[in-house]
Amino acid sequence: MDMIAPEQISPLDTVSSFIRRDHGLFIDNEWQQGGSTDRLSVFDPATGQAITTVVNASEADVDRAVKAAYKAFESGVWSAMAPAERERILLRFADQVEANAEELAQIETLNQGKSINIARFVDVGGAPAYIRYIAGLTTKITGETFDVSIGVIPGAKYTTYTRREPVGVVGAIAPWNFPMMIGLWKIMPALAAGCTVVLKPSEVTPLTSLRLVELAHAAGLPAGVLNVVTGDGKAGKALVDHPLVSKITFTGSTATGKAIARSASDRLLRTSLELGGKNPAIFLKDAPIEQAVQGAMLGGFFNNGQVCAASSRLYVAREIYEPFVKALSDAVNGMSIGPGMDPTSQVNPVVSALHREKIMGHIASARDQGARIVAGGEQPDRPGFYVQPTVVVDAARDFAISRLEVFGPLVTVTPFDTEEEAIDLANDTQMGLTASLWTNDLKKTMDYVPRLKAGTVWVNSHNLIDPAMPFGGYKESGIGRDFGIHSLDSYSEVKSVCIAH
Ligand code: NAD
Repeated sequence: MDMIAPEQISPLDTVSSFIRRDHGLFIDNEWQQGGSTDRLSVFDPATGQAITTVVNASEADVDRAVKAAYKAFESGVWSAMAPAERERILLRFADQVEANAEELAQIETLNQGKSINIARFVDVGGAPAYIRYIAGLTTKITGETFDVSIGVIPGAKYTTYTRREPVGVVGAIAPWNFPMMIGLWKIMPALAAGCTVVLKPSEVTPLTSLRLVELAHAAGLPAGVLNVVTGDGKAGKALVDHPLVSKITFTGSTATGKAIARSASDRLLRTSLELGGKNPAIFLKDAPIEQAVQGAMLGGFFNNGQVCAASSRLYVAREIYEPFVKALSDAVNGMSIGPGMDPTSQVNPVVSALHREKIMGHIASARDQGARIVAGGEQPDRPGFYVQPTVVVDAARDFAISRLEVFGPLVTVTPFDTEEEAIDLANDTQMGLTASLWTNDLKKTMDYVPRLKAGTVWVNSHNLIDPAMPFGGYKESGIGRDFGIHSLDSYSEVKSVCIAH
């Protein structure tokens, strides 16, 4: 942090001192050093240098955290608290996040590599509204009453109603692309429903979660209600396998989601799985080129393409294909590359050296299979985990680059001639998270939308999310939906109560 180029912002003192802390595990409202002496290095992707270490939690550490959450749940300190009081604490949590926004944004950028603009306005900037939306649902949890026709004893009367009861301890497992934001998506509905939580952030980006949990407790969350354990996939697996965990809410790759589903099936553990995407964007011939290219840039390169919802497969009407590819390549070639702490740089490092190698491997395989790289495709010669933003054409539908999630700054562009072909190409994937359609033709819009197999379809936009809009996947992109008025449902059990009188 001594070698800050003039255009970069300097980290706040509070950020530097937070990063330098001897990080522990947050269990039962206190910092604890894990029983495990194993520690994981945490890197600044812009320099490639380790900036701190965190505990790699052992099974025994996870067990301690789950038991603290279980004790808090069973005590009723949270689950039996008046809903309005739970709501008030969660609203104060939103205030805490707002009051510490710049600190959180800088920590996110220094750990994840993303642009400080995105950290400020999306990851952290969007958090208070999201927390407040979900906090508001705390006081809207309801059951139903039924008139029943039970005929066992003639003349007997019955009243039947349902209660929604919190499911218990929730294990929340988060990925590295929007660490704090997605961590919140995992913990907030659980807390609002009255559950207690053990959060395990990604081993690559654990830092904002460690700060967030302090803010939640400063807002008044009782001890044991939210615990954070840092660690790798083994700690995640220990959480999934723990008998006192009643539900896992997971966002991450489809491969890990499947592994969790397999472990969960043994004891019928409840799961919500938000998984990967290989999302299409379809540009019809009437789409204005300038707007189409801006849309493709936002959909494909926002957060360096490390977005589950990213449009990584672009299907373009033959009539506008050539000008589209030229304009997109020019725009991509014109992007400035630099660290996330430089607000003027448009392409920032990807999250890790391992991830950079994975992306470069996808580019090499695309070349080997005969695709053409028309922009980017190289690893810039500078320290840090950088990859040039890349545009690929002539990728046949069976090439790996057309089928596998790259999760980096890379799009493929393919022409189509008919509506049938566009729909067939768009749906030709095991994934089904998002899709977008670019046109001002209302009839075509209404024809295409029902045929696209994706949990979210945008028209003339991509990547826009809102706490009120359900978000989740078809097919192998997951099970369940985050956001929306029903997002607490999967954190509760429905109990039918039948009273004979
Ligand atoms: P990942 O699956 O490698 O890791 C996610 C989390 O799971 C990490 O915390 C990791 O430690 C943990 N984990 C690993 N193995 C585990 C196991 N066996 N049991 C339990 N936990 C385990 O994913 P990632 O690389 O961190 O994130 C990128 C992926 O996340 C991409 O595929 C992306 O599409 C997906 N994603 C999906 C959404 C969505 O809302 N659908 C949002 C963001 C990211």
